Amino acid sequence: MTTDPIPLFDPQAQYARLRPAIDRRIHDVLEGGRYVLGAEVDEFEAALADLAGVDHAVTVANGTDALLIALLADGIGPGDAVFVPSFTFIATAGAVVAAGATPVFCDVDASTFNLDPGDLTRALAELPGHLRARAVIPVDLFGQPADYAGILEVAAAHDLLVLSDAAQSLGGALRGVPVGGIAPVTATSFYPTKPLGAFGDGGAILTDDGERAARMRDIRVHGGGRVAGLNSRLDTLQAAVLLAKLESFAADRDRRAEIATQYEAAFDGLVGRQQCPSDTVSAFAVYVILHENRDALQAALNHRGISSRAYYATPLHRTASMRRFHGGYGDLPGTDWLSERILALPIYPDLDDRDVARIRETVLSTVAECEVPMERLGG
Ligand SMILES: *Cc1c(COP(=O)(O)O)cnc(C)c1O
Repeated sequence: MTTDPIPLFDPQAQYARLRPAIDRRIHDVLEGGRYVLGAEVDEFEAALADLAGVDHAVTVANGTDALLIALLADGIGPGDAVFVPSFTFIATAGAVVAAGATPVFCDVDASTFNLDPGDLTRALAELPGHLRARAVIPVDLFGQPADYAGILEVAAAHDLLVLSDAAQSLGGALRGVPVGGIAPVTATSFYPTKPLGAFGDGGAILTDDGERAARMRDIRVHGGGRVAGLNSRLDTLQAAVLLAKLESFAADRDRRAEIATQYEAAFDGLVGRQQCPSDTVSAFAVYVILHENRDALQAALNHRGISSRAYYATPLHRTASMRRFHGGYGDLPGTDWLSERILALPIYPDLDDRDVARIRETVLSTVAECEVPMERLGG
């Protein structure tokens, strides 16, 4: 059995597989001489809107700017509260702070790992009088769409914008609706390790709302003289790379789902996992397990050449840059519980069946060892 380390992600292996198409697209941009916006960006936006089943795709420089620009396009800023889960990547809340608004941290459901609509209701009721409730950002964590039925209902009652953070979930679906068309506005990322990854940064905002899309296009290029703006365009070269990668997007997603099915069958009942409702299709950007002895398990896996990562070991309401926003609020028990047990395993499409078998078997044997009571380990 080989003991070459298996990384958590491997975008280079995907490049080796798709190299002719990617190289041709990059070459065309270099020869064509149009290096900012232009034909590739237009073509990619059309293809992305098609993939997500929406009328408008506005590409931007990265996923964080996609969230920021979506907030700015709705005039959200100082004095406004934006509800976000605490169990997510820090950019979800960072974009809120960059807009000048205040993130209000909510708990997640400990079985789906996604924003709990009941806790959103609690946070709305506890909102201090100096803040106006304006938006909620459900995150489709690890690729699994959030509970939009519940969240949209609460949002409608309080007139909140629902901005979906789909940085990890492009390719997923809810009740047959692809990610992008589930919420009124959806932000996604093309960071190299996301389901559709560029060779650098990139992002996009998806919506059916033409007026919102027009404001976002203004903001992305200095505001068009109408509003204050940014410079946040998707590089033409990245659009070219993404166009080439779109050709294998569905097959790559299906391969990740196949690996997830194999993990689920092997790990059933031995480790915890993210529960996926029957109407929900995950993009499986990340595959996570839960274990009481997470740190010991991770160290043992690492020793055997299986990379893993504790996503997210520090909930946002406990980070140095964000905890000041959580001052007066209560505990987030689901978030804290998950953050102590979560561990991500490799699930990229270029893992072959032998790699997957090795990961499965190594996790199973390591879990069995980590289950041994401590007194029997030390003698
Ligand atoms: C990656 C990510 C982002 C930010 O995307 P960037 O392109 O890295 O700026 C935002 N939210 C979540 C949940 C992410 O995983």
